Amino acid sequence: MEKTIIIANWKMNPCTFLDAQALISEILFGTKDTKTVNVVFCPPFVYLQGLIKKYPKAVFGAQDCFWEQQGAFTGEVSPQMLKAMGCAYVILGHSERAKYLGETEDMVQKKVAAALVAGLEVILCVGEKEETPKDMPGLLVVYEPEWAISTEGKGAADTKLVASRVAAMRRTLKTSPILYGGSVTSSNIASLIKETGVQGALVGSASLDACEFFNLVKNAAA
Ligand code: PEP
Repeated sequence: MEKTIIIANWKMNPCTFLDAQALISEILFGTKDTKTVNVVFCPPFVYLQGLIKKYPKAVFGAQDCFWEQQGAFTGEVSPQMLKAMGCAYVILGHSERAKYLGETEDMVQKKVAAALVAGLEVILCVGEKEETPKDMPGLLVVYEPEWAISTEGKGAADTKLVASRVAAMRRTLKTSPILYGGSVTSSNIASLIKETGVQGALVGSASLDACEFFNLVKNAAA
């Protein structure tokens, strides 16, 4: 059986490397006996190198990358750089990048192609408006409705809705894992896994609280 995948998207948190280290240490300790779940940590770029060095057994991803591998692109980080640093994954197409930075579908597609060429696994976020992508080796797709992200207590999408969206996506995607993202917590992860056909989850807010997150990972395994 394929392992469940839980991706911790820390977004622009925490504020210091020391806090990042404390958070990951606690989570790794709390999840050390949970063998049936693969956890991927996606901290801000600036913490990646230090965390990869310090926690060589943990699996890391970046929260974005550029569509070229090298060159005059001020401020950008290339997929090749991430791969060389020891990153295994990259999140692409997150709705916050479209909302705050004007990232377009065309940019996302170029990034996906470049990341796959560099040998990264791509965690591609797909909302209500985007088309379901085709299967590609190295692709994981996250069904992530924008209205379900960071709802601060209002909750994730209903499992029946997620199940019907996942079934619709499965008409196009035959082999790539499909995950769900949007207000996943330790309380709703088990039903999301059991009732919707997803292979895991992309977790934002709940991945910043060590205790909440390792309970979420344990409940994903149950
Ligand atoms: C996200 O932004 O990818 C996300 C799922 O966030 P949250 O879990 O906070 O809704």
